This record gives sequence, structure tokens and C-alpha cells, in this order.
Amino acid sequence: MPEPSPSDPAKPEIYDLHCHSSASDGSLSPTAVVQRAHGHGVTALALTDHDTTAGLIEAQACAATAGIKLIPGIELSAQWQNQCFHIIGLGIDPAYPPLAEATHILQGTRMNRAERIAEKLAKKNIPGALAAVMAAAGDGMVTRSHFADFLVAGHHVDTQQEAFDRYLAKGKAAYVATPWAELAEAVGWITGAGGVAVLAHPLRYNLSANKMRKLLAVFKEAGGQGIEIVTGRINPDEIKRAAQLAKNFGLSGSTGSDFHTPDQWVELGRLAALPANIQPVWELLN
Ligand code: AMP
Ligand code: MN
Ligand code: MN
Ligand code: MN
Repeated sequence: MPEPSPSDPAKPEIYDLHCHSSASDGSLSPTAVVQRAHGHGVTALALTDHDTTAGLIEAQACAATAGIKLIPGIELSAQWQNQCFHIIGLGIDPAYPPLAEATHILQGTRMNRAERIAEKLAKKNIPGALAAVMAAAGDGMVTRSHFADFLVAGHHVDTQQEAFDRYLAKGKAAYVATPWAELAEAVGWITGAGGVAVLAHPLRYNLSANKMRKLLAVFKEAGGQGIEIVTGRINPDEIKRAAQLAKNFGLSGSTGSDFHTPDQWVELGRLAALPANIQPVWELLN
């Protein structure tokens, strides 16, 4: 059989459908993320910043120049039964008014939460957090990752993980409960914007089989169509378990690195293959 030529339309795309830029808690600009993805062989990239689409215009401009396909995305924070879940939207129109309004409101929600986290840290004799995280986030969304970086920089902890374990995670000294939108409403913003809703990193929520079944029923009822099967730092056994969820609930499978920062997270495009018996979520994208 002849080798496919580089221009062969049958040449497979290399997908990475989950990553972050400086529009949220990634360290690289949208331009740098797109260039880095291209350099690592990705041919179709979704930029999915936390609760914001602000990086998409810049990413799209860079992608057009670099010759890589940019899928407009978002990673929405949402709640169900008092727990926070992340819903990836793929192929969204960021101008869809309810979605644009939601991200605007989420910016205020996050700023309000940041103020309260900073107050809690100040009570623990760690002042100055708010100014530091606002400076670090710039125009982008303020996240707990920014607080973790602040705590590491001030030598209050040694690692980001320790910052979460000691201060920022649920139940810890500087944790602030956040009124995220209900899961079904967040899914509706994505589908209303013409996008496909994907449950991000399903195994990270530590749900019982019974609760996972209930969650996925609510997610599907709301219009959710996909579930992440291959995600950063996942092992073959976990891929099997996530694939089984996709099979059992009739969901398409997604793949994404969840890249945030060079050398600290899984690299862009460095992803295991989707299991062969799974419908890839990109078949649902226009
Ligand atoms: P936020 O959306 O502001 O609550 O921040 C959530 C982000 O913090 C996640 O997307 C991760 O990037 C990061 N994060 C959450 N939990 C941890 C953890 N245990 N260790 C390190 N980073 C975490
Ligand atoms: Mn993050
Ligand atoms: Mn996430
Ligand atoms: Mn993410």
C-alpha cells in the first residue's frame, strides 16, 4: 500500500480537546498554547479555559496562521448535589447571549470568592493574597490555582498540591463554597451555543457507581453527549473504566490533556488513543 502523502485528506487528525491559557489558570497566552500544540503535532485543538471564552479570538487568529484547527471551547464549573463538576463545551458560539452573560456573571462570582478566600488567608496570618492573585490573573479569570501559586511563592507551602491540601480544598482553612450554576443549566448554555457538552475527568469526582449513574442520567437528560475518557495523568485501567461509562450510558468519548503549564502537566497532544469501540466526540462536531 502506498504511504499517505502529507496532504492526504485521510491523514488522521491529532486531537487535544482540553487545555488552558492565561485567560484562566494556564501560564501561556492563547497564542503560545496554540503554537505549542502545533509544535507537538496537534492538528485540532480545543481551548477550554475555566468559565471564560476570552482567549478564543486570539487563539483562533493564531490557529489560522499556524494551520491548526481551533475548536472554540470552555470548561464550565457547575454544581449538582452540592458538589462541583466540570463540563467541557466544544464547538460553542461564544457570542450566544446566555453563555456570554453566564461567563460575565461567573467573573463576578470568582472575584467575590477570591475576596473571601483572601480574607480567610489573612485570618491565618497570610496577608496580601487578593492583590497578588489579581495581578497574576490579569484580565483572566481568578482561580484557586492562582492562590496556590501565591502560597508557594510565599513559602507557606512547598507545592501547589500542598496548597490545596492545607488551605484551598473543600473543608480546609481557606475554602469558600461557591454558588455555581446547576449542572443542567450549564449544559444548556453549551448546547444552546451550538456546542457539545462533555463531562470532564469523570473519575476525579470519587463518586459511587450509584451516584455516577444518577449524575450521568441528569447530564444526559440536560443534553450532555460526551464524557472524557483520555485525560491528563490517566492510566490504562482508568481509561477502561471511563470507556465503560461511555458504553453504559451511550456517551461519546473525548480526549484532552488538561494542559496548564509546561513541565508541570501532561504535555499538549501527548495522549493515549481512544478505545476503538467508542464513538469519538469529534464526530459530533461540525
Ligand atoms: P477553581 O476552578 O478556581 O476552583 O480552581 C480549580 C483549578 O485548581 C483546577 O482546574 C485545577 O487546575 C486546580 N486544582 C484543583 N484541585 C487541585 C489540587 N488538589 N491540586 C492541584 N491543583 C488543583
Ligand atoms: Mn485549572
Ligand atoms: Mn477540570
Ligand atoms: Mn481543565
